[in-house]
Amino acid sequence: MTDIQRFAEMIKISERIVFFGGAGVSTESGLKDYRSADGIYRTATEYGMPPEQILHVRCFEKNPELFYRFYRDFFMTEVLPNATHNALAALEKMGKRVTIVTQNIDGLHQKAGSSDVCELHGTTSRLYCVGCGKEYTSDYLKQESENVPHCCECGSILKPKVTLYGEMLDEGVVSRSIAAIASAELMIIGGTSLAVQPAASFVRYFRGSNVVMINKEETDYDSNADLVFHEGLGKIFTQALELL
Ligand SMILES: [Zn+2]
Repeated sequence: MTDIQRFAEMIKISERIVFFGGAGVSTESGLKDYRSADGIYRTATEYGMPPEQILHVRCFEKNPELFYRFYRDFFMTEVLPNATHNALAALEKMGKRVTIVTQNIDGLHQKAGSSDVCELHGTTSRLYCVGCGKEYTSDYLKQESENVPHCCECGSILKPKVTLYGEMLDEGVVSRSIAAIASAELMIIGGTSLAVQPAASFVRYFRGSNVVMINKEETDYDSNADLVFHEGLGKIFTQALELL
């Protein structure tokens, strides 16, 4: 049996599947990741401040002009779901109970049709008013002529529903994620080296039968997985789905 056949078999026998995904899931949609050689952290040098500092809650509060200039440049680009997002949505359509726990903020899993998505770091698809709490979609940000968006009702600044550096993860999302991981029979980890805490520690809650790791580079977690692929996610998912 090939590894792809084993992967397909694991999917077949599992009713509850959890997918734990990182930046590598969205790079095949054309989005930049954060930490690789051509990722945001090494290439965004024209802002006079490293991206980690721009995406810190302190920068949002003290220098929203800079924050939103960076935010618009990197997070408001129009992208489409790729083979991985589509494959996970397809598994759900086949009747599997699929929960996606993602470190990404691009909303592409929902765009592909997945209904149970835990966004650990929030989402760029919505914003809220820090004054009155009114919610806005990212379309409002795109249409706003001013760089820094403000509430149409109370005039306060809008903040993206994204977890910035210096902020805590949303407790409700964290507990939903852990519950999904703890109750899954199959856990697929994709496009992440599991280097970022605390999100990476969540996978320790897994009590199911099989763990599949799909990441282009080797990771410290590889030895814990039942099956490891050092290849593109889209390719592996596409091949596995053809066998179902
Ligand atoms: Zn308001």
